Amino acid sequence: MERTPTNARRRSLSLRALRDGWSRFWSAPDPLLLHHGESGELTVANVRLLVVGALVVFTALQLFQAPSAANRMSAYMAAAIFVIAIGLYSMTRRHLNRPWLGFVTSIVDVSLISAVLLMFTLTGRPDVAANSRLLFAVYFIAIGAMALRNDPRICALAGLLGVLQYGAVVAYADIQWDLANYPSELGAFDLTSHYGRLLLLTCAVFLSTTAVLRTERLRWLAAKDPLTLLMNRGTFDERMQAEVARAMRHGHPLSVALIDIDHFKKFNDTYGHIVGDEVLRVLGDMLTKSLRQSDLVARYGGEEFIVLFPETPSANAVYKAEDLRQTIEHSSVTVSIGVAELPADGTDTRAVIDCADQRMYQAKRAGRNRVVGSNGEATVKIEQHTASDR
Ligand code: GH3
Ligand code: MG
Ligand code: MG
Repeated sequence: MERTPTNARRRSLSLRALRDGWSRFWSAPDPLLLHHGESGELTVANVRLLVVGALVVFTALQLFQAPSAANRMSAYMAAAIFVIAIGLYSMTRRHLNRPWLGFVTSIVDVSLISAVLLMFTLTGRPDVAANSRLLFAVYFIAIGAMALRNDPRICALAGLLGVLQYGAVVAYADIQWDLANYPSELGAFDLTSHYGRLLLLTCAVFLSTTAVLRTERLRWLAAKDPLTLLMNRGTFDERMQAEVARAMRHGHPLSVALIDIDHFKKFNDTYGHIVGDEVLRVLGDMLTKSLRQSDLVARYGGEEFIVLFPETPSANAVYKAEDLRQTIEHSSVTVSIGVAELPADGTDTRAVIDCADQRMYQAKRAGRNRVVGSNGEATVKIEQHTASDR
C-alpha cells in the first residue's frame, strides 16, 4: 500500500502515543497511591512472616514424625526462609517510605520460591521443582501480593522475573536430569503442561499489573474535575493540608487566590451553557500554563478556581493574581480575586481559604474585575498591559 502523508502522520502519532504511554508507565505513580501502597507493603510483611512461620512448624512436625534426610533439608530451608522473612519485616518497618522497598521485597519474594525449587533440584529432587503443585502455587501468592504495593512497575518487573526464574530452574532440572524419564511419585514430567504453567504465571503478572493500572486510573478520575481536567476540590484540600503543614513546620509563607468569574450566570444566559463550559475549560488551561509547576490550581466550585502559591508571601501572590486578572480581562469574561496568606490571615487551611473568600466578595462589592489582598484592592500594574492596550 502506498504510504500517504496522512498515513505517515497517523503512524507517527500512534508511535508518539505508544512512547508517551511507555514513559508514563515507567514514571513513579501518584504519591498518594504510593502512600497507600506502604500499608500494602506492611500487610505483605506480616502475611509473609505468618506463612513462613506456619511452614517452619509444619516442616518441624514432619521431621519429628519421620526424620529422613529430605525432611531435615525441608526444615532447614523453612528456618532459613523464616530468618529472611524477619529481615524483610524489619527492613519494611525501617524503610517504609523508600521507593525501592517494594521492588526489593517483591523480587526477594519470587526469588525465594525459585531458590527453594533450585535447592530441590540440586539435592536430587528435580521432580519436586518441576511438578510440585504446592510450590508452584506460591508464585501466585507472591504475584498477587505485588499489586498491594500500588506500583505497576513492581508487578511487571518482579512478576516477569519470577516467570523467567521458574522457566530457568525447570529447564536446568530437565537438562541435568532428563525429567521425562525421571521416576517420581508426583507424576511424569510433561513439557506441554510446563509451558501451560509458564503461561498461567504470565497471565497472573498481566492481571496484577492491570489491576494496579486500573487503580491508578480510578484515582486519577476521582482526583480530577472532568470538564477542566484540573484537580477537584477534594484533591486540592488534601494537597493544601500537606502544604500548610509543611509551611508551618518550616516557618515559610504560603498564599491562596480564590478566583470567581463575574456575572457568569448572565454569560450563560446570553451565550448558552456549552459556550460557558468552553470558557471554563480555556480559563483552566490558561491558569495551568501561566503558573509555576509548584503552584497548585484547582476548580473549586462551579465557576470558581483556586490557586495555592507555596513559599510565596501575599504581596507576590497579589502581583501574580493581578497579572492573571489582566490577562483574563482580554478574553470574554472578567474575574474577581481574593488573596490570603498563611500565617498572617490564618494558621490552617480553612481559615486561609475563608479569608480569601471574604476578600473575593469584597472585590465583587467594589465593582468586580479586581484583586483584593491584605492591603485592600491591588494597585499593582503589570507593565505588559498598559492603559493603551485596553
Ligand atoms: P458574580 O459576579 O456575583 O459571581 O455572579 P455570577 O453570575 O457569576 O454568580 P452566581 O453564583 O449567581 O452564578 C454562578 C453561575 O455559574 C451559575 C451557573 O450558571 C454558572 N456555572 C456554574 N458551574 C458551571 C458549569 O459547569 N458550566 C457552566 N456553563 N456554567 C456554570
Ligand atoms: Mg461563584
Ligand atoms: Mg461568579
